[in-house]
Amino acid sequence: MSGSPAGAVPFLDLAGADEEIRTQLDDAWDDVRRTGCYVGGRHVAEFEAAFASYCGSRNCVGVGNGTDALELVLAGLGIGPGDEVIVPANTFVATAEAVVSVGATPVFVDVDPRTLLVTAAHVDAAVTRATAAVIVVHLYGQMPDVDAIGRSAAAAGIAMIEDAAQAHGAAWAGRRAGAVGRAGTFSFYPAKNLGGVGDGGAVVTDDTVLAARVRSLANHGRSATSRHVHDVAGRNSRLDALQAAVLSAKLRRLDDWNARRRAVHQRYDELLAPTGIGAVAVHPLATAVHHLEVVRVPADARPRALAGLTARDIGWGLHYPVPCHRQRAFAVAGAPPLPVVERAADEILSLPMSPTTEPRHVERVCEALVESVTQRSLRTAS
Ligand SMILES: *Cc1c(COP(=O)(O)O)cnc(C)c1O
Repeated sequence: MSGSPAGAVPFLDLAGADEEIRTQLDDAWDDVRRTGCYVGGRHVAEFEAAFASYCGSRNCVGVGNGTDALELVLAGLGIGPGDEVIVPANTFVATAEAVVSVGATPVFVDVDPRTLLVTAAHVDAAVTRATAAVIVVHLYGQMPDVDAIGRSAAAAGIAMIEDAAQAHGAAWAGRRAGAVGRAGTFSFYPAKNLGGVGDGGAVVTDDTVLAARVRSLANHGRSATSRHVHDVAGRNSRLDALQAAVLSAKLRRLDDWNARRRAVHQRYDELLAPTGIGAVAVHPLATAVHHLEVVRVPADARPRALAGLTARDIGWGLHYPVPCHRQRAFAVAGAPPLPVVERAADEILSLPMSPTTEPRHVERVCEALVESVTQRSLRTAS
């Protein structure tokens, strides 16, 4: 918590977690510098193998970032102009952006009021003859019911792709994020549960042909067997060796950091449940990794909740105050309203969440939040 005023609670404490593995991070850079190989090479191959195994998937391809990972999977599956891709409206814009980038059309659907995640019923209702895929988003670190959505996708003959950018290590009924759908995509943006020291991303998939296609597309369409043969026009979206070395070091700590996030979430839940300020629900079959700690307050109380947190030097975020279908970039005239996500957008609020968040921080945050929302103290609001 260095650099913050006394009593402050940062929204995310990246430096604190990095400090715990300072030696390993220093060694990672030392090691990469000694090889003199900064793009591709041994560090990338080692991380790809470790991350594939962590997810329980056959293949992992390191790429430039999480948005590219999605775009490369869509392109690798041959999805493009004329195709529709079902996307939950409650997601970071990158999910929809990737669909638009390959020339396909995002079709936004509403979400479950408890988890704020997409359900099979939403997917069933949105399938048309033009649908090529559904992108399920493991938002806030929780997977939706991928068994049910997978059955819907199979029945409709479309691909289920997992946007697991917020869910490294999350699981549904014991199966890890990324390893359930046709392919899973990850971001290693520094603020994610597994983050590098810059941008990075990955595609994991059991489909070895798709993995090879993604690897080629991400490397100028280069053939796997000859560096001077280019069968398709690809692009440049590769994972750097330094990012890979750092990610390998951090991957060894991921389960510990996720377990600590879970404990932080439990403390929030214990303190807030009696006050009526509810956290977004975790489904009993989901193992969440709590990328974000999202709670809901009445829409008319949110401005004073945010002001109250700011006044006490407590960090906060909004994920996401404008649903994708309401963004000018993606809005379609005449598109039906999506009432659940629209209401949630006005009520959600993300509280400080890091592996290093301590119980006393959670208590300070909850006191500030409850006082600002109910004008009563945490103790009497229960
Ligand atoms: C972060 C994120 C992305 C994009 O990842 P980048 O590495 O920033 O491109 C995509 N989807 C979701 C849900 C994200 O949170």
